[in-house]
Formats: sequence, structure tokens, C-alpha cells
Amino acid sequence: MVRFPHLACFDARCGQRYGLHEIVYACGKCGNLLEVANRFEQFDTSKIRNAWQQRRLSLAKVDVSGVWRYREMLPFVTSDEEIVTLPEGNTPLFDAPAAAAYAGLDSLQFKHQGYNPTASFKDNGMTAGVTQAKILGARRVACVSTGNTSASMAAYAAAAGMQAVIFLPAGKIAYGKLAQALEYGALTIQVEANFDQILALVRELAEDLGIYLLNSINPFRIEGQKSIVIELLDQRGWSVPDWIVLPGGNLGNVSALGKGLRELRTAGLIESFPRVAVIQAAGSAPFVRQMRENRDLRPVRNPETLATAVRIGNPVSWRKAEQAVQSTGGRAEAVTEQAIADAKAIVGRCGIGCEPASATTLAGIRNLVRARTISPSADVTAILTGHLLKDPDYAYRYHTGQLQTPSGEPIRAEFGNAPVSVPHDRAKIAELLERHAGGTAPGSDR
Ligand SMILES: *Cc1c(COP(=O)(O)O)cnc(C)c1O
Repeated sequence: MVRFPHLACFDARCGQRYGLHEIVYACGKCGNLLEVANRFEQFDTSKIRNAWQQRRLSLAKVDVSGVWRYREMLPFVTSDEEIVTLPEGNTPLFDAPAAAAYAGLDSLQFKHQGYNPTASFKDNGMTAGVTQAKILGARRVACVSTGNTSASMAAYAAAAGMQAVIFLPAGKIAYGKLAQALEYGALTIQVEANFDQILALVRELAEDLGIYLLNSINPFRIEGQKSIVIELLDQRGWSVPDWIVLPGGNLGNVSALGKGLRELRTAGLIESFPRVAVIQAAGSAPFVRQMRENRDLRPVRNPETLATAVRIGNPVSWRKAEQAVQSTGGRAEAVTEQAIADAKAIVGRCGIGCEPASATTLAGIRNLVRARTISPSADVTAILTGHLLKDPDYAYRYHTGQLQTPSGEPIRAEFGNAPVSVPHDRAKIAELLERHAGGTAPGSDR
């Protein structure tokens, strides 16, 4: 008899299985990624929804967490004592009428994962990954990161009393993220190579050095990230949107979204799927090409984008992502650097704000509405993946007209808002305020 949960090769035709406590990141037989195979009998749906709602009133740490509140969906943890939480999740769902207008939609919601303890969605996965590290008795955890994974891992490792080892592509990381890793006490190693090259190296090293790897190849991180869509649907009273839109880098997040949706349906908590759209930066869009050409992923050798969180040319989770998009009738779409920058400014004008990678969503939605793939009346939710303050340098440069694409093309500050200088003079200040009287809604001129 097969015991659940266990680790299983993502390729069902291969069928290879591993125990939950074996340290493996890829199938030894065919090389594919692994996933945690759960078995969800049909839940008593009203009972479970009620229990999840009741836990919002509880003061217990595992109930306060917006990941572990849904622990029936994460059965690899058997004791609350093992859980490492900061606590994460509980991120808001915003209505963003100005962003909706910009995209050509009647309405648009943002689920903002930047409201996590280290300010990105990586915390949803990291609480589960570090919990598994603790279950395994690991002393040392490591990751290669474009920034947010390292910030998150450093924080959770510190909370769990483990050493964090971080490998970063030299010079290609936003300062907000690097500052976090340093502050949380991680051993931070900058390598003169890009993300894809370093990951390949560290995968080899991990085994030799007895380090537990917490990149998104780690199936337990994906388990934690499933909670984003569970919480989203819970917040919407279990009403499934027409579209869920999110950025794609290494494609772990869309993989988690796909798995979460599948399992929610098996458990009887939803009856239909939203269509899933993955947005990539045009200079770093191997998945968009894969979906268009309908063939296996071909890596982009020199991925370029200012949205450093999605600057990944050889995403490991492309098979899982493909399944998430295909099984929901979804889409993959690329957007330009200019479009990302403008969309980001619009998200800011909603009083919300996000980091560049997150803004790909609004830019992508705008394209898909124009192409009539998304109907203007569609019910659309976008996942904002990281906080505005992760990359303040980008925001400052945009608003002051100094932002340039990686190849040195100027980015126009279409929605720029540069600071204004004025002498220490009452009349001059009054005159200035007169000139800037009244606010205009963003995008109202177009
Ligand atoms: C990691 C990250 C992404 C990309 O997510 P993947 O799971 O790698 O596709 C997008 N935005 C932000 C802010 C991130 O930190």
C-alpha cells in the first residue's frame, strides 16, 4: 500500500517515489522535479471552511499564520511543534479601480504578497521549506537567489537557529533584498555568474557539503506557496475568479498555484479553475517562447530585465508551469521594460505599490485585454509578489527620468513624479502649490 504524503516524480509516466524524509530534489530515474503527493479525500467542505474561518479568531501561532491555518492542505507536517513561522500570509486583497481603468478592465483585484514578514511571497514557501529542514534536523540551509528567496530564507533560518548560506549573482540584486540578508545574519556569497549558472553549481555542492537546499526545486517550498491561492479563495468567499495573473521567473510560484488549484478541486473546495496567466519580461521570457512554440523549454542564455526577481533564463519548474497554464486554459505573455515601469507607477498611484517584477502583471493584463484574450468585464486577480521598498532605486530613477533599460535605452517617465525644488520663500511655495492644485486620476488622460 502506498503511504501519503510522499515525494513523487512530477512526470506521472515515470512514477518514481521517495519517502518524505529523503533528501532528494530531482528524480533519480528521469531527472524531473519532484512534488509532494498528497491524498485529499473529499473534505466536508462547509466544516473545513468554517474551521479555517474560526482560526482567524485564535491566538495560537499556527492559526495566526496564513499558511498553517490551512494545514489540512499541508499534511507533511504532523506536529505543530515543528512549524517555523514568523508568521506569514494574511496578505490583503485590494480593489484597484485606477489600475483596472489603466488595463481596460471594469475591475481588478490585487493580492499583495509584499505584505509578508520579509515583504515577498517567498515567505509563504519558506515557512514550509524551513519547517521541513527542521524536521530533517538540518543545521545549514542554502539557496541561490535573485534576492527575495535569500532575504526570506535568511529570516526563517535565523528564527529556526540554523545557518543560512546565500549565493548571489554579483551586482544583479536590488539593495533592499541584499540589506535584508545581511541584517538577518546570512553568510552571503557573491559569485561572478548569473542565477542559472550558480544554481547548477550549488546543486552539485549541496550533496557534498550536507547542505539542505531551499531553492524552488525544493518541493516543500511549493507546498507552502500553495497557500497563496487557498487564502485568496478564502478571502473571496470561495468565488473563483476568471483569471489569476502572476509574474514568472523560475516558475515555482505558478507551479504552486497550479498544484493548489488541483488539490482544492480534488478536495471539493472549488469546482472550476480560473485561467492562469504568467507574465514575463520580454528580455527574459523563455516560458512565453515555450508556450508559443509548444515545445520543451529552450533557455535564454543572457536574460536581461530591470525586474531582477524574474531575470531567469533557465527556469527549473517549466514543466509544472506548463501544466498549470495548459490545464486551466491560461496564457503566457511578455511585456517590455517601458510597460513594466509604467504599470508599476500606476500600481503606486493606487496607494498600493510593488516591486518591478510584480508590475509585469498589470502590464500583461493590459496587453491581454487589448488583444481581447481577457474580456473587459472579466473578474481578474493579479498577484503582486513583492513590496515597493524592495527596489527603491528603480522607483527613484523612474520618477526622476533616469531609468534605462539594461541595454541603455531611456525609459520614459510617463507617470513620473519628480520632486520639485523651491527656494525658502513663502510666496514661491504658495505659487507652486497653486500650480499643482488638484489631483488627477492616473491614466485619466488616456
Ligand atoms: C521570486 C519572485 C518572482 C518570480 O517567481 P517564480 O516563482 O520564480 O516564478 C516574481 N516576483 C518577485 C517579487 C519574486 O521575488
